[in-house]
Amino acid sequence: MKRKLVVGNWKMNGDRERNQILLREVLQGLPVGVECAICVPFPYLAQAESLLGGTSLGLGAQTLSEFDHGAHTGEVSGAMLADFSVRYVIVGHSERRALQGESDSLVARKALAALRAGLIPLVCIGETLAEREAGETENVLQRQLDALAEVLDADSIGRIAVAYEPVWAIGTGRAASVEQVQAVLSFVRAWLAGRVRDAGDVRILYGGSVKADSAQALFGLPDADGGLIGGASLEAPQFLEICEAAV
Ligand code: 13P
Repeated sequence: MKRKLVVGNWKMNGDRERNQILLREVLQGLPVGVECAICVPFPYLAQAESLLGGTSLGLGAQTLSEFDHGAHTGEVSGAMLADFSVRYVIVGHSERRALQGESDSLVARKALAALRAGLIPLVCIGETLAEREAGETENVLQRQLDALAEVLDADSIGRIAVAYEPVWAIGTGRAASVEQVQAVLSFVRAWLAGRVRDAGDVRILYGGSVKADSAQALFGLPDADGGLIGGASLEAPQFLEICEAAV
């Protein structure tokens, strides 16, 4: 049976001193029976790699370049991430779609670049509040998913994880309801089933204001394979409780 996956997205937070304390605390309480990882800012990859080495806490990054090397000042390639023992990389987070103007097709090319480097892309999709209120949720998700299929073949789609993160639930303290989440997750599962042989093997995560007290119900949904955790991943006790809820 596939284990659930819980990934902390630190976003642009942390410093060397706090990282060390946080990671040590997380490592001390890490449950078994669930896969856990943290996605740290680029400058802290080396620090995290050395603290995580030989443990079961996976290392991740928050984005990568669509290119493998060359004249791309300021960019970081998948191969560089792999060089620091990175296993997961978030692509298409809504903050990057909104603030860095990442398009659906760029997100798809980044997912492909991650796979080329042997990384697991955690591909984020999700609608805004305005889109949900306009009844556009499924159209938006369909568009974001179809853009992936333009670039990734079936085998590649089978090697990604999808993270459903409704934009209105991110950092707002207002998680989507279990009914809303399950409706979208089963929509994503059906989309996957139309493209890959074993759609049940592809992990689908939920992200957006997941807290210790909401995690169990969200992770217990039929199509939920784990979560992508922002704010609550910055405090070890809270993050560990969320990991525990996925066992
Ligand atoms: P919060 O858990 O802080 O809402 O953030 C979710 C998120 O964006 C994870 O990628």
